[in-house]
Amino acid sequence: MRYVESVLDLIGNTPLVKLNSVAEGIEATVLAKVEYLNPGGSVKDRIASAMIDAAEASGALRPGGTIVEPTSGNTGVGLAMVAQQRGYRCVFVCPDKVSEDKRNVLAAYGAEVVVCPTAVAPDDPRSYYLVSDRLVEEIEGAWKPDQYSNPDNPASHYRSTGPELWDQTDGRITHFVAGIGTGGTISGTGQYLKEKSERVRVIGADPEGSVYSGGTGRPYLVEGVGEDFWPDNYDKGLPDEIVEVTDAEAFEMTRRLAREEGLLVGGSAGMAVVAALTVARRAEPDDVVVVLLPDGGRGYLSKIFSDDWMTTYGFMTAGEQDMTVGAVL
Ligand code: PMP
Repeated sequence: MRYVESVLDLIGNTPLVKLNSVAEGIEATVLAKVEYLNPGGSVKDRIASAMIDAAEASGALRPGGTIVEPTSGNTGVGLAMVAQQRGYRCVFVCPDKVSEDKRNVLAAYGAEVVVCPTAVAPDDPRSYYLVSDRLVEEIEGAWKPDQYSNPDNPASHYRSTGPELWDQTDGRITHFVAGIGTGGTISGTGQYLKEKSERVRVIGADPEGSVYSGGTGRPYLVEGVGEDFWPDNYDKGLPDEIVEVTDAEAFEMTRRLAREEGLLVGGSAGMAVVAALTVARRAEPDDVVVVLLPDGGRGYLSKIFSDDWMTTYGFMTAGEQDMTVGAVL
């Protein structure tokens, strides 16, 4: 019999798949690291387990403790899954703009979700940042992972994602391309790979308008990447290059990945692939460009994979139809 002891043993060791159709005409090899195959469905399972392990080891999180984090996304899912297995209570604080589906995913794992109004200033006591700070003070045994500044976030990628890519490519990787949210993925993985070989280039993919590519934080629609501030976990000096990608380019590529590669992924994956192909086009034929796909596309069915939504935001023109649903024969 071949099995693992717990769902947590399924975190990491995700496969690489070659991109064929979208990379047509490119001589370099373009490989995608498929992070949606983690058990919680995203790259964030890695940091969730690493941050909790470290907090247990340091005593910051004790048996019966409560994890409090302002997140509604993939990090929340990872934390909720690990907390369920380890017997911790989880309280997530999220703004009311977060969809019911996303809140329900967290609740399904047994987490409690506190919803705060979006339309208040960050210093308003009802804002989700301040509510989470207050909960940490009020709940006994509460611990806040804080993925933006927790060093175990990049450290988990230094210890897992980086070595996996080096091994999987037999040390032939020449370029690593990833989006930047907290900066944990690119900083930890990039540092490991650069220590292995000076030849490895690290390329950040960034939504147009985000600070990492020189913007002011102007809103963009791709989720999970780009910021309007500089997180501690982003090592500014590490990337060799930042490639700016528009929402339109990111969403078009996200749809193409499903249609042409059979990879149903989120918008930040589409964005990273646009940047990877830009880099791969000017790379040498024996170069190996690896791009990380952070999560799957199921969470974006009513957005990127909805013709109506794409039309509302101007990414498709009215009357244009790309997806056929409910045809009656
Ligand atoms: N894509 C998605 C969908 C994410 O949730 C995140 C995490 N915010 C990222 C990309 C970026 O990863 P990191 O925080 O490690 O920079």
